Amino acid sequence: MSDSDEGRDCIFCKIIRGDIPSTKVYEDDLTYAFNDAHPKARVHVLVVPKKHYADVNELAQADPSLLAHMVSVAQGIADKVYHGNFRMVFNTGEDAGQSVFHVHAHVLTGEKMA
Ligand code: IMP
Repeated sequence: MSDSDEGRDCIFCKIIRGDIPSTKVYEDDLTYAFNDAHPKARVHVLVVPKKHYADVNELAQADPSLLAHMVSVAQGIADKVYHGNFRMVFNTGEDAGQSVFHVHAHVLTGEKMA
């Protein structure tokens, strides 16, 4: 299966292409970051690689430097909105709560976490 076949029905690939609207927080050549539709914190951003990987394990195996880049994107967002403090979550697998199978980091910030 080619990358384009993988992305055709993927909701986050559609967001990255602009086929589905989103509130962009940050973008560069490798990543796109947008507000989560159902925020679980005052600031809840999803950071996704533009290239389609199903989950964080697949990404880590294929391109660890891209995973590191996602961390630095999250840090940059938190630096802007909440003195650099943030929580980063990768739900991995259905039983862990993953519902979209295009790897995404939940970046939660903007308030003191419990
Ligand atoms: P998961 O459950 O870890 O896979 O997270 C998927 C996240 O995507 C959830 O927090 C959803 O609220 C979010 N989400 C799903 N569809 C959209 C959308 O169209 N725009 C923004 N966020 C979305």
